[in-house]
Amino acid sequence: MKRSAARILYGLILFAAAAGTARGELAVRTDFENASAVVVGIEQDSGLIQIQPAGDPERGWPCWWSFQVDGIKPGRTLTIEVDRAPGNLAASWAQPGYAAYSIDHGRTWLQTAPGTAQDGRKRYTAKIDAKSAWFAWGPVFDTADARELVERIAARHPFAKPLELAKSRAGRGVPMLVVDERSAGDAPEERFGIWIQARQHAWESGGSWVGVGFIEWLTGDDPRAVALRRKAVVYFVPVMDVDSVATGNGGKNQVPQDHNRDWSAEPHFPEVVAAQKRITELDKAGRFDLFVDLHNPAPGDLRPFFFVSPDEVLSPPGRRNLAAFVAAGKEEIVGPLPLSPTTRPSGAAYSPQWQAISKNWVTTHCRPHVVAVTLETSWNTPHSTTAGYTTVGRQLGLAIEKYLRTSPRAVAAP
Ligand SMILES: [Zn+2]
Repeated sequence: MKRSAARILYGLILFAAAAGTARGELAVRTDFENASAVVVGIEQDSGLIQIQPAGDPERGWPCWWSFQVDGIKPGRTLTIEVDRAPGNLAASWAQPGYAAYSIDHGRTWLQTAPGTAQDGRKRYTAKIDAKSAWFAWGPVFDTADARELVERIAARHPFAKPLELAKSRAGRGVPMLVVDERSAGDAPEERFGIWIQARQHAWESGGSWVGVGFIEWLTGDDPRAVALRRKAVVYFVPVMDVDSVATGNGGKNQVPQDHNRDWSAEPHFPEVVAAQKRITELDKAGRFDLFVDLHNPAPGDLRPFFFVSPDEVLSPPGRRNLAAFVAAGKEEIVGPLPLSPTTRPSGAAYSPQWQAISKNWVTTHCRPHVVAVTLETSWNTPHSTTAGYTTVGRQLGLAIEKYLRTSPRAVAAP
């Protein structure tokens, strides 16, 4: 009885929305992957759409929001007003300086005019030359984008193989790509092993876009990318926490476990188990050298930076190699989002669970020469766009290519 009443109600809502759109009224949709918004109000006359992030706080900081608007008269300027998420999270996490929007189903992401803050809410405006538009906290990169990226690159290049890292707790596939351009006669142990992953924190969509820039550069024809492919096998995971991304949840500090505090002896997430297993096998075989975890930082971090393992867990070769890698990063990640010269340690003072942070797990479980870092790319700037993020990804690739010229394994030899 209850269920049929709910179904009738849902039917009426859909009918009303469809009728409203047909009459040329603005309507908001969130019935798709990675969407998140509670509609607080829509002013049809002024074109003001008021929303709040809809993420479940149990499933991570509810800073992410993303939704579709239908019924737009092309050429009209819309105003999006974003309220703070319910709970204790500071409003600034959900209110970037600029919001992202698309008028082509999310194929291209543009940036709104700078947001204006008032009474704890922030307003963004954009002139929309289309009947439908998509608005989001930042450029969207969902699990379908991850699958499409991996398949597109694999279809183009015989040396790139699509794989499934794991099935998530909810049964979703976690796509990954292995770039392995081996020439006949190459001994596998003579090639470097590199692991790059993004989105342990689901809301940090910029991390995936940095990954896009990296992998497209790596598989392209820049001579330095070709040189890197010849000397390294690269393992790339564009979205780790596929369940939080698919459901539009924030992921960070989720219950029972933050994805990036899960790198323990008994992880909660199958994709962490699978990543640990692959990295351990590579390291045991003497074929692992570099781990980079891609994130977005705090609202006030306006330059990208590396989080590094605390000095006390580094060995002399590890310390030497980390310095060489950071130096290469500074030389290559030069703008429009230039790398900060200062690294930050994430040890006991940063988090009581510091040992279960992915890069610290890699540092303490792999050979002494292995370098493991978190790259935090700023999201709150005019350059925090797909173009800005993918540029950082390409520059990260250049930094890796330069770093491997320093013979990082040689320093570990007795
Ligand atoms: Zn993060």
